[in-house]
Amino acid sequence: VINSEDILQAHKRIAGYIRGTPTFHLPHYRPDSEGEIVYKLENLQVTGSFKIRGAANKLLKMVETARGTGVLAVSTGNHGRAVAYMASRLGIRAVICLSRGVAPVKIAAIQQLGAEIRTTGDSYDEATAYAKELCVSEKLTFIEPFDDPDIIAGQATIGLELIDSEPGLDAIFVPMSGGGLISGIGLAYKRVFPGTRVVGITMEGGAVMAESLNRGEIVDLPEEETLADALVGGLGDSNQYTFSLCQQLVDDLILVDEDEIRKAVVHAFEDLRMLVEGGGAVGIAAAQSGKVEGFGERIGVIVSGGNIGLSQVDQLVSN
Ligand SMILES: *Cc1c(COP(=O)(O)O)cnc(C)c1O
Repeated sequence: VINSEDILQAHKRIAGYIRGTPTFHLPHYRPDSEGEIVYKLENLQVTGSFKIRGAANKLLKMVETARGTGVLAVSTGNHGRAVAYMASRLGIRAVICLSRGVAPVKIAAIQQLGAEIRTTGDSYDEATAYAKELCVSEKLTFIEPFDDPDIIAGQATIGLELIDSEPGLDAIFVPMSGGGLISGIGLAYKRVFPGTRVVGITMEGGAVMAESLNRGEIVDLPEEETLADALVGGLGDSNQYTFSLCQQLVDDLILVDEDEIRKAVVHAFEDLRMLVEGGGAVGIAAAQSGKVEGFGERIGVIVSGGNIGLSQVDQLVSN
């Protein structure tokens, strides 16, 4: 459903809206190793996460065909912010539905972009059910967070950038929730470097995609409290693309625990001088805790988001 041309077109289409993000090279965590870890810094992306890539591709394609109607997104924060940003640049209405428990720093950013916020439901899945009704009653276009070819092609542009700047990586560690990011990167990068292992990284509690891949069918798990709030949520009852793409493209899975995520956020702040949110830091957590062992000498790690408040970082540092 998504070919190389779609990804190249997406990259051209979104070029004026996103940043080509830099990479950061660090020695392997193991002192006796020659290897290196390459961080791809999507925490420095416009809107603070890679989600702008998919949202920009989707909304720009949409306005080419039908201007006028508004858009609606359900989000744990980052997708909502990306959609709100694009809607404001394109001058269209945006309604963002959030479940309770979305980080205040993310809500504030969405508000600032002029989107209408509706807070509803105790979980991401509950917020989705409400949102689908709202789309019908208010004639809004629902913008999927991951299960849409245009969104996946947008996220895939990270893979294109990595092909240019970091060819021939042994493995790429990718934070994974619904699987749009890892599907896109896998599609783009493996076309040129089929031997590169694509590794999905997620938190231990409520890892829906990881559990579904292990069992060979989509499962539903209760949401759990996690520092990786951007990775929370299920695959829905009608997943069309990302589950089967992940079945084809994801070579390994690594789960990280809350303490490993906390240490990764603190490490990013204290040693790298960067703000990285919990969900964006799971790849760093995997690399730091020695879980890169056996994956080769050059490992790419996607640092997927930086939307975290200073007070939250402060709390994690002093814990
Ligand atoms: C959305 C998100 C992810 C996961 O992306 P999926 O396409 O849902 O797998 C990872 N990190 C951050 C910071 C995110 O916002």
